[in-house]
Amino acid sequence: MSRYIDADKLMEVLNGFTQFHHIETLTVGTFVDMIVDMPTADIQKEIDYWHDRASSYEQTIVKLSNALADRREVVRGKWTEERLPSTSGGSYQVWRCSNCKQAFNWRMNYCGNCGSRMGDGE
Ligand SMILES: [Zn+2]
Repeated sequence: MSRYIDADKLMEVLNGFTQFHHIETLTVGTFVDMIVDMPTADIQKEIDYWHDRASSYEQTIVKLSNALADRREVVRGKWTEERLPSTSGGSYQVWRCSNCKQAFNWRMNYCGNCGSRMGDGE
């Protein structure tokens, strides 16, 4: 799942760094640390918003996760039928996900490995 950070907050951190150091002394490692330490954008606002509309903590979590799931980018994939050699000398059928290439013994409407949604009838 994508992790979004607040670009304005990152600029604040960078400006803070340049108040005490020359920008030329900023290493890639330090810059990566700054990005890793950034809080995910607006998640607290989301929690507060759903908390105001829920009667319990559990309901807040459910409403928040539903809202995030609705916004998540839907990745679509296709099953590809394939035969693999079996140890007994024959072969057996598998279904391979077009996105992550994981093979399964059965088809589902989503990939159990990467979560891609599979097209109807494919
Ligand atoms: Zn997959």
